[in-house]
Amino acid sequence: MKSHTKVVVIGGGVVGASVLYHLTKLGWRDVLLIERSELTSGSTWHAAGGMHTINGDPNVAKLQQYTINLYKEIEEISGVSCGVHITGGLMLAGTATRFDWLKMVHARGRYLGMDLEFVDMAEAKRLFPLMEPQYFVGALYDPIEGHVDPWGVTNAYVKAATIQGAAVEKYNRVVELLHRPDGTWDVVTEKGTVHAEHVVNAGGLWAREVGRMVGLELPILAMEHQYIISEEIPEVAASEKEMLHIVDADGEIYMRQEGKGMLLGTYERAGVPWSERETPWNFGHELLNNDIDRIAPSLEVGFQRYPAIERAGIKKQINGPFTFAPDGNPVIGPIRGIKNYWVACGVMAGFSQGGGVGLTLANWMIHGDPGADIWGMDVARFGDWATLAYTNAKVRENYSRRFRIRFPTEELVAGRPLKTTPIYDKLKADNAVFGDYWGLEHALWFAPKGTEPVETITFKRSNAHPHVGAEVKAVRAGVGLIEISSYGKFEVTGPGAEAWLSRVMANRVPKIGRIALTPMLNQRGKLIGDFTICRLGADEFFLVGTMAAERFYQRWFEWQLPESGVVARACGNDWVGLSVAGPRARDLLQTLVRDDLAAFPFLSFRRMDVGMVPAMVGRISFTGELGYEIWVKPEYQRNLYDTLVKSGAAFGLRQFGARALHTMRLEKSFGTWAREYRPIYGPLEAGLSRFVAYDKPDFIGREAALAEKASGGKLRLCAFRLEASDADAIGDEPIWHDGKPLGWVTSGGYGHSAGNSVALGYVPKEIAAATTGFEIEIIGERVPATRLDAPLIDPSGERMRG
Ligand SMILES: Cc1cc2nc3c(=O)[nH]c(=O)nc-3n(C[C@H](O)[C@H](O)[C@H](O)COP(=O)(O)OP(=O)(O)OC[C@H]3O[C@@H](n4cnc5c(N)ncnc54)[C@H](O)[C@@H]3O)c2cc1C
Repeated sequence: MKSHTKVVVIGGGVVGASVLYHLTKLGWRDVLLIERSELTSGSTWHAAGGMHTINGDPNVAKLQQYTINLYKEIEEISGVSCGVHITGGLMLAGTATRFDWLKMVHARGRYLGMDLEFVDMAEAKRLFPLMEPQYFVGALYDPIEGHVDPWGVTNAYVKAATIQGAAVEKYNRVVELLHRPDGTWDVVTEKGTVHAEHVVNAGGLWAREVGRMVGLELPILAMEHQYIISEEIPEVAASEKEMLHIVDADGEIYMRQEGKGMLLGTYERAGVPWSERETPWNFGHELLNNDIDRIAPSLEVGFQRYPAIERAGIKKQINGPFTFAPDGNPVIGPIRGIKNYWVACGVMAGFSQGGGVGLTLANWMIHGDPGADIWGMDVARFGDWATLAYTNAKVRENYSRRFRIRFPTEELVAGRPLKTTPIYDKLKADNAVFGDYWGLEHALWFAPKGTEPVETITFKRSNAHPHVGAEVKAVRAGVGLIEISSYGKFEVTGPGAEAWLSRVMANRVPKIGRIALTPMLNQRGKLIGDFTICRLGADEFFLVGTMAAERFYQRWFEWQLPESGVVARACGNDWVGLSVAGPRARDLLQTLVRDDLAAFPFLSFRRMDVGMVPAMVGRISFTGELGYEIWVKPEYQRNLYDTLVKSGAAFGLRQFGARALHTMRLEKSFGTWAREYRPIYGPLEAGLSRFVAYDKPDFIGREAALAEKASGGKLRLCAFRLEASDADAIGDEPIWHDGKPLGWVTSGGYGHSAGNSVALGYVPKEIAAATTGFEIEIIGERVPATRLDAPLIDPSGERMRG
């Protein structure tokens, strides 16, 4: 074994193999893969090898497309067959609701350039003769689905990588990782130590153990997964064409041809985790004990819908473990605080996603940027709250729901409530309907007293609609109260704080006592955050952003921090908040503070006592109304809440939740992180150029931002009014213009004060000046849409500044 290498990739499953290949493809040739056994010795060897492009996250879907198209390339370089069978696939709908869901998948596929096509039942039966069409109401055909040979794919990646300079060390386990002061690694193996600049944890079933070598608890868990292979089926044996890949989501079944029979797998509802705390090192090329009873309900459905399989009988049953993250997406990227340690694990669909994961990680390691919008896969999306037990609860839930529809009005229940703020029980007593935001409970809306605080699960407007409407109207007409603890927060302090913020953020740093809104850009000039910078003193700043991205920001800040002088501390849980908003907000707050609020204009920030409570108050509100954000230490929140509610009674104060806030920000055309603002957009495209100080001499992304300004970028974020009837856009719907799907929706909803369905979305800049000719596809129906020149509410900003 070598004594030194640039990168050690730990794990020779499909994911480690892909990372190795992509490192060499992108130019790092001095790389070494270490595998404790033979290649494929984790989940990979017994995988069913199925692959498809469809994914709930369009950015992940793009990486799946990349993976499937990659097989030809690695076959050509390596000379090893991946055993690719592109059979095409059918997604079957057994219910009208599932059919609606398929329409949404079909619509999303349009702007992703996927060639999805609805077929009627006669055609579905012709394409897949084993099905009984009476059980289905619709079918969607995808020409790019099929299956591969897991062993072939893994070996093709590794062979292609070795041809390009990589080395491979098999039958050698990594037992310890020692971090040198310069950030490099001594990788201790059973056969000696190798010094490496970087290590990649692609340990699959053992990724948790390889994480623990550096004190990291990764939020992943393996689940047992079973499939059966049938005996020979005469119809399959006689068919000239290979059977299609099938997903029968209502039956919770997937299928493909295997030999002259069929392989049928299922994600059963009563899924069972495997090795919940640690994975034994002596687990080899082994299968788990079969449990036919557990999958019997799905088999019964399968035998009814595809009787030829039952007639043929079961030849073989497979039960093997593979890993999942709490949300089912891969867990990849660099780890905050552990230099040069990278993870590529939790990949539950290695044959659809492995190529994209390898490409992304290699880009990140070599170029310092993943090169694509991979927020949905970034390890930084999980915080400390994703503990072993929480992960266990969420992974089980996710596994059991693998084929179930996630409705936009649906809140999942496992692992909740986990984090609560001090006023949780008070909001509960006020009949709040709660949602879970990155582990934290927050009020979505308030159900009328005496009714059950439950939201109906639907693609359309739910039972919350009138109540959210009443909340919005109360805020716009008088004053409302909302908890805002779920925002992300940072304290930035120290003598170098101003200069540092000026370099990291694109806008100018505000003066003492003032607030500035600012995008944060990466070196490519793309949006990686949007912040409210509040300045308390010369060296004292309070930043408000997105809680979901707190880890992501922490990691970025750490990379950008100079050697001394600045402390950027994530303090999301140390400060909790309440906000009052609406034309009477000032009158209400004035009764509780000694400061003269008439002399506290829009975008001011200072410490104030609110009643008896020491607080930081900002004159700003995401509702677009005259409003205040009040930040306090958790121990004061109950008192502050009681004080505001009591004093607010005289002003007609009404509580409102996140759903009302969402519709109010849409009416104001305000974008938000992870929806309108993501690393695939530039500030000009996102309508944020007024918050970029292009004339500042030095800030990260300046040159790229100037280039975007000069070229005009490619896209524009636009606001639309829709003629929708009973369902609004939710995000990811195509935006049609003159009969072509040219853009996509980032968020949508109903604007209660405007009385219109509204949406925000991106279109090519060439058509962004048009107001007419637009349609937005909602559940298969193209709804006429008008592009708005100005926000529906308060276009001049008078109310907000008032
Ligand atoms: C029954 C079943 C059916 C499946 N069907 C499909 C399917 O149809 N389509 C699909 O896309 N996916 C499928 N999967 C999932 C797929 O198997 C996984 O996505 C994939 O195998 C994950 O690969 P990996 O490289 O991350 O992990 P693994 O395959 O677990 O590989 C990790 C490797 O790391 C090595 N390793 C770990 N620790 C060390 C160490 N300390 N030192 C050296 N080496 C180490 C291990 O020996 C192992 O070889 C299925 C899985 C199962 C169980």
